[in-house]
Amino acid sequence: MRVCNISSGSDGNITYIETQTTKILVDIGLSCKETEKRLNLLKVAPESVDAILISHEHSDHIKGLENFANKYKTKVFVHQDGYNPLCKKINKECKIIPYNNDFFINDVGIKSIAVPHDVNRCSAYSIIENEKKISIITDLGHTNNEILKNISGSALIFIEANHDIETLLANPNYPTSLKNRILSLRGHLSNKDSARAITELVKSGARQIVLSHLSSENNSPQLAFNYICGVLSDNGIIEGENVKIDVASTVPKAIFKL
Ligand SMILES: [Zn+2]
Ligand SMILES: [Zn+2]
Repeated sequence: MRVCNISSGSDGNITYIETQTTKILVDIGLSCKETEKRLNLLKVAPESVDAILISHEHSDHIKGLENFANKYKTKVFVHQDGYNPLCKKINKECKIIPYNNDFFINDVGIKSIAVPHDVNRCSAYSIIENEKKISIITDLGHTNNEILKNISGSALIFIEANHDIETLLANPNYPTSLKNRILSLRGHLSNKDSARAITELVKSGARQIVLSHLSSENNSPQLAFNYICGVLSDNGIIEGENVKIDVASTVPKAIFKL
């Protein structure tokens, strides 16, 4: 399996996953043109993408969806509970992920996992090929045991580390209502909450984590990395020894091969 974070953060989120038989995008939060450009950098022809999995209908996850999916006739998958809100925003027929949350694209197993966010349905995804599993879990206000149990056993996990709480609270450009939304149980995962979740995930075997969906105003790669590695270290987990932590870039950089 080959996995690349094509874009991450409030400007747009896209993750590319390639198996022997199948090419998948999780979300398409950049314009169609920019997505084409970035796929080309990876030497991936846009028309060869088999499917796009949508987490939820916020624009940083679907900006290029309508144009891309209509241009290349790409199949789009969205959970049953997110179908209507998405259809109000795009003119494209979607395939519905059923309530049992598990399905296949070719021979690749997909699991949709409900996460708490301020939409009707936000899905994290686990993607499984043979014994290999990766998970993408962003846009959630908090985690719980059920969510962590669902993504445990993943060889690679992209998890949200959206903001540093103090930086967000001190940000003069954000109105109180927006701060409250971000901090709520259905908002976004702070470095603190992300660190707590990652600690549990490492204890249950996770060895490769990518901090994702960082706010450009209320966080920085260095801040998120240092804070989270500090919490891990307090729990006896050493970055580089017990787990590898990367920070997702706003442009395609690292390609993970599993
Ligand atoms: Zn969102
Ligand atoms: Zn988002």
